[in-house]
Amino acid sequence: MFESLKKKFAETSGKLYNKVSNEAEEENNIMIEGEVNEDTKDPQKTEDVIEEEKQKEENNKEEKKEDEGKQRSSLSKIGDKLGFGKSKEKNSKEEDETEKEQEPTQAKKEEKSEEEDKGEKSGIFSFIREKTISEKDVSDILWELELSLLESDVAIDVANVVVESVKEDLVGQKIRRSNDIEKYTYEALKKAVSKIIDIDGKSMTSLIEEKKIEGKPLVVMFVGINGTGKTTTIGKLADYYMKKGYTPVVAASDTFRAGAIEQITHHTDKLGVKIVKHEKGSDPAAVAFDAVEHAKAKGKELVLIDTAGRMQTNTNLMDEMKKIKRVSKPDLIIFVGDALTGNDAVEQATKFNDAIDIDGVILTKADADSKGGASLSIGYVIGKPIMFLGIGQGYDDIKEYDPDWMLEQIFS
Ligand code: GDP
Repeated sequence: MFESLKKKFAETSGKLYNKVSNEAEEENNIMIEGEVNEDTKDPQKTEDVIEEEKQKEENNKEEKKEDEGKQRSSLSKIGDKLGFGKSKEKNSKEEDETEKEQEPTQAKKEEKSEEEDKGEKSGIFSFIREKTISEKDVSDILWELELSLLESDVAIDVANVVVESVKEDLVGQKIRRSNDIEKYTYEALKKAVSKIIDIDGKSMTSLIEEKKIEGKPLVVMFVGINGTGKTTTIGKLADYYMKKGYTPVVAASDTFRAGAIEQITHHTDKLGVKIVKHEKGSDPAAVAFDAVEHAKAKGKELVLIDTAGRMQTNTNLMDEMKKIKRVSKPDLIIFVGDALTGNDAVEQATKFNDAIDIDGVILTKADADSKGGASLSIGYVIGKPIMFLGIGQGYDDIKEYDPDWMLEQIFS
């Protein structure tokens, strides 16, 4: 899920590391570890630095000469070696230790290679003195990021916001340790994405509870084009809320498409859920009205109204949908979109929102979506929250949307 976004953000981080490291080298701002050791005038020396210096002192003096040669290798080479996750070289003591554990060596050889490791490590643990990230450092890389977000079907407005936010956070940032570049970039990217995906809205479960206190069912109307997974999603939600102890009723208000009533009935039969249905071609608003009346009369907590899939451009069907809204007075109108269709899903949501003012979104097929563009963009573009994600074809494959979970998926 969202592999493409994940990769693009990691690449940006790696590119910035190399760029800023190279800049620092050109500006002669690099202090290799030995030099840090001697130059103790720096008042802001961190504990990390002191720790590294201690380690250095423990190194064999003969080996030190060799070390110094290696230390003078440029940070760009180090960046290449490290390559953020692709590295064969190690950029931390911890990793060195792991490496040592893993490699079976003979006693003397091991000692020698340990010393060599330390030598290389001291080069890697280089520091940059007061290198400040400039607009020039980031502009090309952020431009590439913007393009790659667009390639991943991220909406253009969203890509702009991400890039501007990252720029704002990084430009002027003081870097003292080369490894901080990756950390700051990741933090900036994460902050930018969290701004985009965190749209305020109440959960469906809390809305059911609020209506229950009033002694009324929560009425939810589902809209969207055919094939996005609307019927399956209604089945999933019926199952989800039955498991939470509520009793749903389904309205078969897609009276337009051949086979639609049978299709939704197939789900309700399997799940043992009450369905209200009329003849094919009958008034869909009347079906929805009857389902709401049934729920009220029987004390059921949830009404799920299926509607005919329609293109946002089909005026007649859009008018019919408005009639269902007028008659059944839904508490929530949810647009169901297919994550795999990327920008199309965002475009459809915008049109449906303009026509009948939707309250939230369910994106289906997120399990098969490697790009992640629609998931990242849709809520921000229409200003309405994603409420659930469909993550498979089974009834259990639905997940209440959680921005923290989403961030974790993209930045883990
Ligand atoms: P509708 O025409 O909008 O009612 O679409 P359906 O509910 O019939 O779903 C269309 C197809 O998408 C079916 O094969 C579903 O099994 C599949 N589908 C629905 N939701 C998901 C999902 O979250 N993940 C995956 N992988 N497939 C889904």
